[in-house]
Amino acid sequence: MPQFDYDLFVIGAGSGGVRAARLASARAGKRVAIAEQQEIGGTCVIRGCVPKKLLVYGAEFGQSLRDARGFGWTIEGAHFDWPSLRDAVQREVARLSGLYRQNLEKAGVEIREDRAVVVGPHAVRLSRSGRTVSAERILIATGGHTWRPEETPGQELGITSTDAFLLEELPRSVVIAGGGYIACEFATIFSGLGVETTIVYRGDQILRGFDRDVRAHVQADLERTGVRVICGAVVDAVEAMPERRKRIVLSNALRLEADHLLWAVGRTPNTGGLGLNDVGVAMRANGAVIVDAFSRTNVPSIFAVGDVTDRINLTPVAIREAVAFVETEFMGRPTAMDHADIASAVFSRPPVGAVGLTEEDARASGRKLKIFRTAFRPMKHILAGNEQRVLMKLVVDCADDRVLGVHIAGVDAPEMIQLAAVAVKARLTKAQWDAACAVHPTGAEELVLMGEPVTDDNGAGHESSAGCV
Ligand code: NDP
Repeated sequence: MPQFDYDLFVIGAGSGGVRAARLASARAGKRVAIAEQQEIGGTCVIRGCVPKKLLVYGAEFGQSLRDARGFGWTIEGAHFDWPSLRDAVQREVARLSGLYRQNLEKAGVEIREDRAVVVGPHAVRLSRSGRTVSAERILIATGGHTWRPEETPGQELGITSTDAFLLEELPRSVVIAGGGYIACEFATIFSGLGVETTIVYRGDQILRGFDRDVRAHVQADLERTGVRVICGAVVDAVEAMPERRKRIVLSNALRLEADHLLWAVGRTPNTGGLGLNDVGVAMRANGAVIVDAFSRTNVPSIFAVGDVTDRINLTPVAIREAVAFVETEFMGRPTAMDHADIASAVFSRPPVGAVGLTEEDARASGRKLKIFRTAFRPMKHILAGNEQRVLMKLVVDCADDRVLGVHIAGVDAPEMIQLAAVAVKARLTKAQWDAACAVHPTGAEELVLMGEPVTDDNGAGHESSAGCV
């Protein structure tokens, strides 16, 4: 008779939880259950990456139709219908959620559609059914949720990205608070669909954490294509107006009016009411579960992966952490997750792909650098009369010629960066990049054709010695 009901109980059926449950059951032959209180699939599938990317595709067609004129097409009577796109996206989300469920079932995982609360180092209570089950190991994979500044008067009048996917009607105007991933992506979606869009960001340039050249490039292009970007301000209050419009009062005394205010000011880990405090699991002030490189908490039977740990909040990272957890705990192969040089993409206009160190971070580490940078109009945009340009930048260590960082803003950047990430992870040198012959005519070929480092160093005032500054 086994000591516990399960070998593994996973809380949260998102990207990390589902992967861990499936592998532990199908590959390691363990008895596994997974609890989910909402739809199976989690943030990425239900209210994140997947529906977002589909909306981005939808929004891009407007520009594509305009570009097509330069290639001889006559486009008349083109019309966009929000409910058609919204409902098609939701159907696809439901289809994927169903596939996730099937895959769990095929792997032999028991699915509990219930809210789970940790009530002991080996015990979980299922709120709806009222049952308490035991497990040798518990994996917390509950992800995060959108955050709002609770102290801002009228904040409840705003919506979050979760609501934005389901809007009854396409708004005429929207104000987006925040300047990160979600703000830039929804600004791209809304403005691409013809909505008057304003970003309100507290810093001096959107997309903090990305390379300064990329940030400037994206901000300038969003503005060029009609997005108003207000920097150095936050939303101080939101007031209701007739016809469900909102007045948005900014800290710089500006007053904006819009159909919606979208809060895109970050996400916060889902640990509220999960019982972790009661069983002594250590958490950070923001509620993130503290784990080591093997995703172990301070309670030996409890582990955590994904956004709930607030390490790098990206789907593929959660999946890798889950794989490493299963390898370590059930397959006898201790595997620490390597969080270095993880590429990411922002599906903004233009889109961004980035991997490795930014120029600022590389300089802060005391290295001497060679910076390679190019900006050009892609071939497709010339006939189209589209002014959008591509920016590419390589950050190279003078000491060993290693390419430390690759930063691209422009069409196809998210596709290009995946391959660039292979090279950065493999610690290839600039000379090795350049040994690869160009593929012509493509935009990507510029990545191996940047012969000379820039010498202007963006005004940082460093002395140049063979391009090393
Ligand atoms: P981000 O952390 O990317 O951006 C949050 C933004 O809100 C920042 O601009 C931040 O400013 C601002 N902000 C934070 N607190 C306040 C405040 N109190 N008042 C005003 N502004 C504030 O979070 P997102 O919500 O955009 O996305 C959450 C995470 O989800 C991302 O970090 C990413 O990990 C993941 N994600 C990934 C995507 C992708 O891979 N394409 C897409 C969407 C999300 P400041 O810069 O000054 O801190």
